[in-house]
Amino acid sequence: MNITWNKRQLELRERFREVATDLVAVGSDARDRDASFDRELWKELAAADFWRLQVPTGAGGLGKDGWDWLAAMEGLSLGARDLGFLMSVASHSGLIRLLLTAGTPEQQHRWLPGLTSGEVAATGSTEESGGSDIRGLSTRAVPTADGGFVLNGAKAHITNAPVADVVMLAARTDTEPGAFELSLFVTRTDVDGVGSGPGEDLLGLRTSPTGPIAFRDVRVDADAVIGGVGEGLTRLYNTLAYDRILFGIIVGSSLEAQLEPLVRQLETRHAFGAPLSAQQYMQEKVVSLTMAVEGSRALAYRSFGQLEDQHDGYSLSASVTKLFASTGLVGSGLDLVQAFGHSGYESGSAVERNLRDSVAFKIAAGTDEMQKKNIFNHVRRAYRSGELAPGSRGSGT
Ligand SMILES: Cc1cc2nc3c(=O)[nH]c(=O)nc-3n(C[C@H](O)[C@H](O)[C@H](O)COP(=O)(O)OP(=O)(O)OC[C@H]3O[C@@H](n4cnc5c(N)ncnc54)[C@H](O)[C@@H]3O)c2cc1C
Repeated sequence: MNITWNKRQLELRERFREVATDLVAVGSDARDRDASFDRELWKELAAADFWRLQVPTGAGGLGKDGWDWLAAMEGLSLGARDLGFLMSVASHSGLIRLLLTAGTPEQQHRWLPGLTSGEVAATGSTEESGGSDIRGLSTRAVPTADGGFVLNGAKAHITNAPVADVVMLAARTDTEPGAFELSLFVTRTDVDGVGSGPGEDLLGLRTSPTGPIAFRDVRVDADAVIGGVGEGLTRLYNTLAYDRILFGIIVGSSLEAQLEPLVRQLETRHAFGAPLSAQQYMQEKVVSLTMAVEGSRALAYRSFGQLEDQHDGYSLSASVTKLFASTGLVGSGLDLVQAFGHSGYESGSAVERNLRDSVAFKIAAGTDEMQKKNIFNHVRRAYRSGELAPGSRGSGT
């Protein structure tokens, strides 16, 4: 599998690195201090055609493909210096991706123009009762005589919810007792019965607003279902896999941006008559960070290729990507604080913020434990079906 960017993709990567440096990185510390989301910034990103890139020309986009957009996302992540903003971007892109892969042409025409020109989307699955156990969710969609649905329930801890114009939600559509059937719906947040609660006060990712969003007798038409009634679980797993792959891209790039400050610190700070970079324990931090960058990226490329091809292995490799990336992000976050000593532990320092922000990557889009569970289940299934026996294992590509 070829995982080198072509010339066009390198140009996109560089263009959005510059966009991020000029737009997102500026003011990022103030937004973190104030826990604020900058809607103007969001609109400026849309005006730079970030979202329209991968949308077909027939639906008002620029007609590039998913890889082109991934290159742009990698560039954005390199320059942003704001993991919260990137988390909001990843959530929003989940709905765009769902519409592109499972939406009808009518649904794409209805939703994509707004979503690519400054509206904010949230994607809600988690509820107060828990996020890991999807089968425990209780938001319900009851069919109406005219072919539509009435939605009732409440989502919790949803990225972008306090500022969202559009929300995708997972709701149960099963009718038999004991059955579990899920469907994905999309609705505007300014319609009767949709209400978002106050934003949550979080340890990190303070530039990415999260919060509850409730649905009380919300009437939607049949066209609000994306990907078919009863197809929600499969679609949700696809969207989650995509999010997990984006985490690999975000982590690879945001950690790469930490490499220069880390090496500069080790080269310029002296102890015991020598630069810190002369100490093996300190050199190891550069090695670990570099491995996290290269590994997260390579895994993300591989799993995105599998997701694009709907290869059987995409769910496994997306989980491996996410677990590797979140582990590398938090591990390197601790290493960075350590390398800067007390000044890295002070509130307001870049590495202190990076560590606070990084922890969420172990929870959002499925916790580390859920990735481990998924990885183990895949491997056990392969064992039981004889795929792990010597000589029978494919390359997985
Ligand atoms: C910054 C941030 C943004 C988020 N954005 C969104 C969003 O946009 N949309 C959305 O739907 N959700 C979102 N979430 C919610 C997130 O998906 C959930 O927090 C996550 O799925 C875990 O659910 P929970 O918090 O209810 O923990 P629980 O599911 O209650 O789990 C608690 C702990 O138990 C562990 N655990 C649970 N079951 C098992 C098991 N079988 N084996 C081993 N360990 C287990 C979990 O790993 C976790 O450590 C976001 C969360 C964060 C932190």
